[in-house]
Amino acid sequence: MVTAMATYNDLLPATATEPKGAGFKWTPGILPGCGVLVIEQRRAVATYTVAELPTRWEGRAFQLSKIDGGTDNDETGYSVFICRAGQDHLCGCKGFSRWHSCKHVAALVAAMENRWL
Ligand SMILES: [Zn+2]
Repeated sequence: MVTAMATYNDLLPATATEPKGAGFKWTPGILPGCGVLVIEQRRAVATYTVAELPTRWEGRAFQLSKIDGGTDNDETGYSVFICRAGQDHLCGCKGFSRWHSCKHVAALVAAMENRWL
């Protein structure tokens, strides 16, 4: 039996550049922790495949591979770590290294809070 893939929609928390909160969509894959993530900012829409990776750290690790769009054409993907304690998240993107927060972390945290992941 083939089941149609549901896609879930929500908004990320508001930021200075996204006062209404960027939109994001999650389409679960076949395996837990895998799926397709779309982040819809005012400036750009980016689509990633998400795969959960094993980690020895206290939290969950994901590899985001960019399929389409985004604001940084040099990057093809990011490794993201979501800390269980809700702090010390990590992402390999330029935004995170500059601001210590980014849309990738925000989207994965929100997806986990929604129990999509
Ligand atoms: Zn990031």
